[in-house]
Amino acid sequence: MNYYIYENWQRESALRPIIHKWDCGHCHMGFGKRANAKKGANGVWIGPFDKVEYARAYYVMKFGDESNECNCVNH
Ligand SMILES: [Zn+2]
Repeated sequence: MNYYIYENWQRESALRPIIHKWDCGHCHMGFGKRANAKKGANGVWIGPFDKVEYARAYYVMKFGDESNECNCVNH
């Protein structure tokens, strides 16, 4: 069970990075919902993290904020 953080770096002020679980419909193991989307054009996937705790710890360190998680993390 892996976790990823998605950071939309083009809209940093509007969208906070979000933690997703690997099987979330939004991220598909970090490949993104749209297979044809240019990787890194709008955002980047960070991970995988083996445990959500690791993703949360990284999030707090990297973004200096409480972690923001997709609903998929708790399913
Ligand atoms: Zn998700």
